[in-house]
Amino acid sequence: MSSKLDTLFEALSVVSEGCHIYICDLKSDYSRWSKNAVEYFGLPGEYMYNAGDIWKEHIHPDDREKYSKSIDAIFSGISGSHDMMYRSRTREGNYVMCTCKGVVLRDEAGNPSFFGGCIKNNTVLSYTDGITDLRSLYGFMEDIQVMNSRKIPYSVLLIGMSRFSAINDVYGFSFGNDTLNRFGKLLIDHLGSFGRIYKMDGTKFAIITQTAAVEDIAEKYAFIKNKAAHDFRVSGEKTILSVNGGLVHVNDFNLSRNTIMSCLKYTYYQSKNDKMGDLEIFTNGADDSNRQYIEMMNVIRSSVVNNFSGFFLCYQPIISAKNEELKGMEALLRWKNNDYGVISPNKFIPILEQDPVFPELGIWILRQAIIDSRQFIKIYPDFLIHVNISYAQLERREFISELTALLNELSFPPENLCLELTERCRLLDIKLLKNLFKSLKQYGIKIALDDFGTGFSSIGIIRELEFDTIKVDREFVKNIDNSATDQKTVHFISNLADTFQAEVCVEGVETDRIRKVLGNYEVKSFQGYYYSKPVTMDEFSRKYLYAGH
Ligand code: C2E
Ligand code: CA
Ligand code: CA
Repeated sequence: MSSKLDTLFEALSVVSEGCHIYICDLKSDYSRWSKNAVEYFGLPGEYMYNAGDIWKEHIHPDDREKYSKSIDAIFSGISGSHDMMYRSRTREGNYVMCTCKGVVLRDEAGNPSFFGGCIKNNTVLSYTDGITDLRSLYGFMEDIQVMNSRKIPYSVLLIGMSRFSAINDVYGFSFGNDTLNRFGKLLIDHLGSFGRIYKMDGTKFAIITQTAAVEDIAEKYAFIKNKAAHDFRVSGEKTILSVNGGLVHVNDFNLSRNTIMSCLKYTYYQSKNDKMGDLEIFTNGADDSNRQYIEMMNVIRSSVVNNFSGFFLCYQPIISAKNEELKGMEALLRWKNNDYGVISPNKFIPILEQDPVFPELGIWILRQAIIDSRQFIKIYPDFLIHVNISYAQLERREFISELTALLNELSFPPENLCLELTERCRLLDIKLLKNLFKSLKQYGIKIALDDFGTGFSSIGIIRELEFDTIKVDREFVKNIDNSATDQKTVHFISNLADTFQAEVCVEGVETDRIRKVLGNYEVKSFQGYYYSKPVTMDEFSRKYLYAGH
């Protein structure tokens, strides 16, 4: 086997958590198996001749025939791949259910040269993490179910690390794995007496506890965070870890596991993105309101799955500063339910963003908004429909293809669509963002920067990314008629926008006086209660569809 292949094999066997990998030279029938396979199944060694037959001995007698058929087909060149399940015997003599997949690699002349693949131990993969030996995410989800069935309140802490990939990049995966292991031990030492520790996806861990009070967990968390940053060693090396954590206290046992998971992830990302790793606790103060909130999230989440029942869009006009004519509208999401009434998106979007169902809702919003605007572009050819897009939507690789497929399907001109992003999109990698902007621009889709001035990287972001419009947050204009500072700020922003060839739209125009003051600056459009609150499509079209035409 060439040394290049050997190196590649080593790298793969380190990162293939929970998988046993193998590669076989078909001509010589000489193969290499990962160390974890040798140890776990008790194989003679990492390098073996005729491994197919050796492995066959480990397969349950009832499964051997179908295994042999599949392997014979590979060696005789009839088949190019192998994908099957069988029971296999471990070193201890137990049988575990495995999924075995492999492919034949061909040389330049097209002849079969290597056969490689992986064997997944389904039982182990399900409940134990291969690196830390802690109970895994699957085990966690199952235990949450058990906790709910016991009906005793409990707390869940999600704790993980930022910028972990830098550790992998600089020191290698093996050191990365050691670090995870050490961190798991740190958690066991300081939180283990409270309850069980889990290794979740990526670099996250969790603990479920019935006994510890929220304040006690918070105290331990602060200790661990501090220790990981200042006094943490892996294989003798001082290693600096920046830890984040979110905590959810559960006292309603009808919540789905997914709702608990979304709330937990929400707190985790709040801690990571907004609190420099300080613990975020999911509670609105009193325990009861926390409980009602999670319950409502449970209902909202199931509405998404249940055909988006209860969701609808309201629209607010965007008015030209030059002639007071309608330029477009912004779609604003609402959720309505008999028990809760109409709920504002600020209440549920930040939590739903962490949920796997969110992308579906995002596409539903785009679809609805585009369908509702088709009638307007017939009358106002330059009409712009503004749709809010959260960074969690942009992060997905499929975003552009799904969006363009939707525009095609609905025959909607991309130039009439404007996506509103907030400064939070800077949480994404700048290269990814630049590529996204490039693709969106190529299609002709416009991009606005929402809530300008409220975030953390204002000027940097408009220098780096080409926005068509900058929307000034209403914070800067609500007192503009008697605040010289706010007037100077808006003046400054409008000059700045001009430098980068972006238009300025001011939000929160509530009075005629505000509008008049804004007339002194390079502001292209207005949005606010002075013109209209967000209203249903029925009301909006009654007011604007045929107005003046
Ligand atoms: P936003 O994008 O900044 O939307 C403007 C918010 O300001 C809206 O609140 C609107 O009702 C409110 N507003 C408009 N004019 C005035 C005014 O003159 N005075 C005052 N006081 N408020 C005004 P809303 O509808 O509650 O939306 C809140 C936020 O929720 C939005 O802020 C946006 O960030 C998010 N959001 C709304 N719909 C969606 C959506 O479809 N997708 C995503 N990802 N986020 C959404
Ligand atoms: Ca907006
Ligand atoms: Ca805004």
